Amino acid sequence: MTSNFSDDTTLREILRDAHLPSLLGTLAHATHDLTLLREEFRPNYIETAAGFQPQGGLSANAQDEARDMAFRVIKELRKGIYDAKPPLQRAQVRQIMEYMVGPFSDDHFTLLLNELGLAEYTEVSQWHKTKLSTNIDFTVAIIGAGLAGVGAAYRLKQAGIPFVILERHHEVGGVWSENNYPGCHLDTSNFNYSYSFNQNPYWKEEYASRAAVLEYLQSSAEKFGLQEHILFNTEVVSGEYNESDGSWSLMLRKLDGSSEKLRVQALISAVGQLNRPNYPVIDNIDSFAGHAWHTARWNHEVDLAGKRVGVIGTGASGFQAIQKIAEVAGELTVFQRSPPWVRFTPGYNSLLKEGSRWLFANVPNYHRWFRVYRMWVGMCRRAYTEVDPAWKHPVSMSQKNEELRQLMLTHLEKSLADRPDLLKKMTPDYPPFAKRCASDDGKWFETLKKPNVKLVTEKIVKAHEGGIETTDGELHELDIIVFGTGFKAADFLSTLPLTGRGGVKLADQWHSDDARAYYGITIPNFPNLFCLYGPNTNINGNASLVLLSEAGATYIVECIRLLLESGKHGMEVRQEVLDRFNDRIDAASGTVVYGAATVNSWYKNASGRLTQNWPLPTVEYWNGTRQVNKDDYLFL
Ligand SMILES: Cc1cc2nc3c(=O)[nH]c(=O)nc-3n(C[C@H](O)[C@H](O)[C@H](O)COP(=O)(O)OP(=O)(O)OC[C@H]3O[C@@H](n4cnc5c(N)ncnc54)[C@H](O)[C@@H]3O)c2cc1C
Repeated sequence: MTSNFSDDTTLREILRDAHLPSLLGTLAHATHDLTLLREEFRPNYIETAAGFQPQGGLSANAQDEARDMAFRVIKELRKGIYDAKPPLQRAQVRQIMEYMVGPFSDDHFTLLLNELGLAEYTEVSQWHKTKLSTNIDFTVAIIGAGLAGVGAAYRLKQAGIPFVILERHHEVGGVWSENNYPGCHLDTSNFNYSYSFNQNPYWKEEYASRAAVLEYLQSSAEKFGLQEHILFNTEVVSGEYNESDGSWSLMLRKLDGSSEKLRVQALISAVGQLNRPNYPVIDNIDSFAGHAWHTARWNHEVDLAGKRVGVIGTGASGFQAIQKIAEVAGELTVFQRSPPWVRFTPGYNSLLKEGSRWLFANVPNYHRWFRVYRMWVGMCRRAYTEVDPAWKHPVSMSQKNEELRQLMLTHLEKSLADRPDLLKKMTPDYPPFAKRCASDDGKWFETLKKPNVKLVTEKIVKAHEGGIETTDGELHELDIIVFGTGFKAADFLSTLPLTGRGGVKLADQWHSDDARAYYGITIPNFPNLFCLYGPNTNINGNASLVLLSEAGATYIVECIRLLLESGKHGMEVRQEVLDRFNDRIDAASGTVVYGAATVNSWYKNASGRLTQNWPLPTVEYWNGTRQVNKDDYLFL
């Protein structure tokens, strides 16, 4: 327990901001006193489309009593009464977790233990390269220093595997470095969008600003001594597999245009999915005389104040940028093809309450237990993405999906009760989760109602020197066009041209946008190449991307161990293993709204196949990557 303890009155105030199920779990863990998990405070686990009931559904009276108990325990903790205890038994940890979120399977337990992130319970292999009898030179190149690259580097370092990180930009951060449009911030909770091995009790917000995420990633790289492994301003322009010795030859381009070669024994692609901006095809766009740029390539030279700005697209980035642009632009014209489903998310644009911040910073491990709770809520959300083939409804795809639709419709109708014109334009005609849902604390709809904001849903016909013309013949006069039109997400590894065994080009093997990899990681004909955030590893209403990325990194380290132990040069996933895996993925895609719905989304490739997202329960990715089955691989 740290200092900075408040007086009794302040502590009671602070406790008003506590998340009681997480706090009770935290206190039972800290004190080893599981009698604190009293029946009368047990969360009721009733899950609704909005998530679990606030404060576990406890009555106001029960909440007060739980706070009283927490007050007494925190005071005792402060006195050091409970300090220096050996770790709790796993069974007791599970008891706490099940008290907080309800019963779960053994597999879920290992996943949640990982999320708790306490060294005594994590499963990551203690294997270290120095323990191997063979001592061959083996260096890995990680391409990309974003969230995935840094996470992989951490795991490689833990296992003593030499590596270098090649990053085309000047800093760590990936999308959080590239995207600096106004309003850029997380739309998933920080408590899950952070490494399990480097959890942060000091977040100021629950949905961190771009600057805070960037700072977190950079400080993670610093903290684990990874910066010194990074070659910045170094783009990998091509890579070729050498069958003679299993190495990869990389061609690097430096900032000054010079080239260098690098030979490594394995490659980890951590190049991301969302870094090739997608520009819409607009007839005559070159004739536009004003400024035009993509949200991911923000032009900070141009002041938006008082200008006539047009934003094309209300997807994730456009949605955030529009709310900020509207604060300064003279006129803002929003061009929308289809409206996003918007989930009411209190706190989305605000700081965490003072009391919450104090508790996270001062009550040991409260942030970890809250993360566990958050992860569980995220995993439960999957139920709302599942398709019920017997469900007959023009829009939704199951009873639960309909419940969620109704919840979001209520927010929509409440927010736009005074603007029936906007309500009509803003009501999606596709099921929730067919595309990424947006989060809103009320600001989005308020923005659309501002007098300087105009929502246009007519299709764009062409650009003119002075603006954009829509199908109704109107010319929308603009000084600036912002493309909030997302990324070429289906073109996996398109920033990294690779040639594998037998001269096969990866882009050809994948027919550009039909990427397939075993658990998103390994690919036939490309030995010793491992991908993170590869095909079918994105999330949608289903837990956390970081979990998948970390699981992938652990799997890769295990692959490298097997390779080194095999005494062979290369390992490559068997085609039939990948085919079987893909059959499973394709079948599962039909069971989730984001795979089955016919609406277009960036989750799918041009032919409508779900290539980006994981369609199975999160725990199945976790289980599939916890161990490497040697028989899945050819050793060359
Ligand atoms: C604006 C925005 C907001 C987002 N918000 C969320 C969110 O709230 N929650 C969520 O779960 N996800 C979110 N995402 C998704 C996001 O892509 C992932 O969360 C995550 O950042 C991916 O990390 P990554 O390391 O795999 O890829 P990236 O962050 O894309 O990093 C890839 C790195 O590889 C480098 N690179 C690429 N090609 C080469 C090459 N040939 N040579 C050298 N370097 C190369 C790039 O420069 C980059 O630094 C968001 C994405 C964007 C764009």
